[in-house]
Amino acid sequence: MAQETLHKEVVIIGSGPAGLTAAIYAARADLKPLVIEGPQPGGQLTITTDVENYPGFAEGIQGPELMDQFRAQAARFGTEFLVAWIDKVDLSARPFTLHTADHTITAETLIIASGASAKWLGIPGEAPAPHGLGGLGVSACATCDGFFFKGKKIVVVGGGDTAMEEATFLTRYASSVTVIHRRDHLRASKIMQDKAQKNEKISFIWNTDVREILGSPATGVTGVCIYNNVTHEETTFDCEGVFIAIGHQPNTGMFKDWLEMDEVGYLKTNGRSMATNIPGVFACGDAQDSSYRQAVTAAGTGCMAAIDAERYLDNLPVPTLTGEEITIEGEIITADHEAIIMPDGEVISNKADAETEGASVGN
Ligand code: NAP
Repeated sequence: MAQETLHKEVVIIGSGPAGLTAAIYAARADLKPLVIEGPQPGGQLTITTDVENYPGFAEGIQGPELMDQFRAQAARFGTEFLVAWIDKVDLSARPFTLHTADHTITAETLIIASGASAKWLGIPGEAPAPHGLGGLGVSACATCDGFFFKGKKIVVVGGGDTAMEEATFLTRYASSVTVIHRRDHLRASKIMQDKAQKNEKISFIWNTDVREILGSPATGVTGVCIYNNVTHEETTFDCEGVFIAIGHQPNTGMFKDWLEMDEVGYLKTNGRSMATNIPGVFACGDAQDSSYRQAVTAAGTGCMAAIDAERYLDNLPVPTLTGEEITIEGEIITADHEAIIMPDGEVISNKADAETEGASVGN
């Protein structure tokens, strides 16, 4: 089949809260964005149930319904959607090129909102309901779901900072939290370990793998089947909730030859903007955030990325990773704002005429 070629001012990769918020802003700025939806349209919220911490919904809202609302709002202002898997990207020059099985897409600006995926153990009982107990006592997000476990006995799986943070947070609600870790010592930083180990509600089971999550749709989670990898004993541990906290993987593999990222794969952005190391490419949401990972923070950074793209397309300076600012025409404003380096290398003052002439600029 012949490849269809599309050219867009703004292409957004990902349709979670970050991507769709970027789409709402870009569409309202009349930039006619294209959102490319991957294998999980709507992102991680589509596999959760109640969302009680997204502002504006006093009674809470179901995750899939919230994402339907995001999508409808983006569509209302003219966002186009394409369900496609991106095989390859070329960010060597603008317009940037994205290749899918059926399309070659060129983009003046690119907003990456491809999200991150919680890592799972891959054991029986873990899959989302109705195939498993996911959403019925199994979760990978204490901030999202901890509230539903008041007075309950909870297991947290993992030995890193995420596991310590989740375990500590869950003690606000749970009657007890048991961390089950596959080795005899933790990977978490000392301060996070100390906080968890000093917490009276938290206990540890070492050298142990969780092999199955037990329960039924009627009862929810009732326990876990655990295997001590030193004594080779298999036993059952009773609990009412299981939080898998073995890390997240940002969905950024396709950008590894182009964009600066940390060792896990989170894209580096500037802090003052959502710019990556390539001018015109912006990143938002969980693809660049290993710290907050909330729908509302993803939406916030999606808004920021769209405003950055608008400014860039308007030939206004946008901050880069180095603290310099750059325009679409290649002018670079130095980090101290004193000078402009023109595309041909000429350096000119960035001072307003009145200032350079020594005139008073008032207060
Ligand atoms: P992580 O450091 O990679 O730790 C993952 C943990 O899960 C490890 O203990 C690992 O066991 C265990 N694990 C991995 N795969 C497993 C499997 N299949 N079965 C059983 N256990 C498994 O991930 P993270 O805790 O999410 O932290 C990621 C990064 O974010 C780190 O740099 C961390 O410092 C940072 N972070 C910081 C904070 C904070 O400062 N507030 C909070 C969260 C995360 P092993 O130890 O045996 O490998």
